[in-house]
Amino acid sequence: MALRLYHCAKCGHKMRLASSQCGRCYSKKPFHQTIGALFLVVVCIGSVTVVAFA
Ligand SMILES: [Zn+2]
Repeated sequence: MALRLYHCAKCGHKMRLASSQCGRCYSKKPFHQTIGALFLVVVCIGSVTVVAFA
């Protein structure tokens, strides 16, 4: 099952997390909805946690 966390801002279609555009209207996703942004958030939280407990 594919992760579908976000809805398209233009047509409301549920978008796959891994794809960079809407599957229905093919409009580009904003950066904060991409898997790269989610990865950055995880890395940031991880590094803060490491620093806090080091
Ligand atoms: Zn769309």
